[in-house]
Amino acid sequence: MIFFFGTRSSKIKERRLKRTTCSYCQSQDSFTVNTYGTYFHLFWIPLFPLFKKHIAECNHCKKSFSFAEFTPQMLKSLEVENNINPAKRPIWQGCGCLILTVFFLIVFSISLYGVYTRSGDSSNVIKVDPRKELLDADFKKMTQLLQRGKDSISISLKTCVDYNIVSGLETENISYFTRQNEDKLLVLLKIKDIKKVKAEFRKDILDIVEDCIFQLDKNKIFNELYIGVEGKWNTVLIRTPTQEDISGRFADKYKLLSFYGNDSLKQSKTKQPDTLKIE
Ligand SMILES: [Zn+2]
Repeated sequence: MIFFFGTRSSKIKERRLKRTTCSYCQSQDSFTVNTYGTYFHLFWIPLFPLFKKHIAECNHCKKSFSFAEFTPQMLKSLEVENNINPAKRPIWQGCGCLILTVFFLIVFSISLYGVYTRSGDSSNVIKVDPRKELLDADFKKMTQLLQRGKDSISISLKTCVDYNIVSGLETENISYFTRQNEDKLLVLLKIKDIKKVKAEFRKDILDIVEDCIFQLDKNKIFNELYIGVEGKWNTVLIRTPTQEDISGRFADKYKLLSFYGNDSLKQSKTKQPDTLKIE
């Protein structure tokens, strides 16, 4: 992410310096001093004020003087002006700070509330079903570059799917991953151009995969088949021995979790049946 930040300044006051003489053109009382408020900004939102800058200009000869060039006479006149008519910063120069403070207060209160409502927990460890991590990791392993030694089921499956697939899909763009767990088989497909198939026809892909596995599994090793199909952005189809999501648009990929076994906490008698502490 690119951050735009830095300092900016804006004019906050214009005053005349009385009882001064221009060292350049010797004009009397000819100085106008502009005071600028410098502030720190993030994405052009003023966060907090920094310093003030004074620049004097002689109205007669137009020479300008930075603060460092002010004569003692000018400094004194400015001091008098500051007492009579001080250059106050507008509130907006620090408004980002206020916004940030409010934002952090809100975030802090929410997290405090979260801690408070979870105070019944015996520990503060974030509890996640470890099977979700396994599934997420397997989803990332889908690849178009199948290697014979690594995932030979995917290779045979791809040959079969390529032959049977619904027309319109580029078979070269389909990624595969399979995993065996005793008599269970997990088959994951990623079809980036799934949009080319109308949602109501997408479930045909599940049937093709099922038929292909049935043909390939000559020794009848696999009793349970878990199929997940991912589109470009999300999971679109799920079929397991007990559940399915076949609308073709959105599917809950965590329905595949039972492939990895039962939720160990559901079996044990813990207070929180849906979660498991990760060691
Ligand atoms: Zn002058």
